[in-house]
Amino acid sequence: MPAKAVVGNWKLNGSLAANEALLKALLKEIPPQHPVACAVCVPSPYLAQAGGLLKGSGIAWGAQDVSRFEKGAYTGEVSAAMVAELGARYSIVGHSERRTVFGDTDAMVVEKYAAARKARLTPIFCVGETLEEREGNRTQAVLARQVDALLAKCGVSELDGGIVAYEPVWAIGTGRTATAAQAQEAHAFIRGRIAAQGKDLAGRLTILYGGSVKGSNAAELFAMPDVDGGLIGGASLVAEEFVAIWRAAGARSR
Ligand code: PEP
Repeated sequence: MPAKAVVGNWKLNGSLAANEALLKALLKEIPPQHPVACAVCVPSPYLAQAGGLLKGSGIAWGAQDVSRFEKGAYTGEVSAAMVAELGARYSIVGHSERRTVFGDTDAMVVEKYAAARKARLTPIFCVGETLEEREGNRTQAVLARQVDALLAKCGVSELDGGIVAYEPVWAIGTGRTATAAQAQEAHAFIRGRIAAQGKDLAGRLTILYGGSVKGSNAAELFAMPDVDGGLIGGASLVAEEFVAIWRAAGARSR
């Protein structure tokens, strides 16, 4: 059985004061031991703050991106090793905002995935189609291209212990959620694609859904057999919403 997880993506939001208030509110609800992994991916300058507040708790922390380079003359980059040194467990790679706004290509994303693995982070590898691609019946072709890029560069064994997030671009930050059936169809396709190269591994791979998940729609999405939790943007900034989503994945609060 895949492990369940609910991961927040704070994007470009936060301040020392706001982060502290949010994390303290989450800590009141989320116990140190529980069966559904819970994590927040914060802007990199706040990784140390998150570590200070969350160490020893039931909430892990991570970055939203890492450099594909290990070190050197790459102004502005943050390496996976730097993120890991701050105690982070996760890093998102290939989020659609990185792909569309910052030009991350499939090739760059898989290099980032490899860099995160090398630093012993758990990469959260995002894939998903645009509205135009969905309406043009190209959803599966796009998912296949993105997943195959990773399989070709890293090999299927590198997916063991990683996480995939299906995030239809048209559902991110738009308030328009994929239906449970649409999410299930895409997740089953992704799992099947990976199963063709590693059946057991695909069977235990955590595949998260992301795209306008809220407390009110999480349970229906998470009830799907191939949906193992969520990657949560906007709703992860509101403690009650994020906790409600985490509970919907089968977790029990304090
Ligand atoms: C995301 O940024 O990964 C995301 C899913 O955002 P939202 O939940 O706001 O749609």
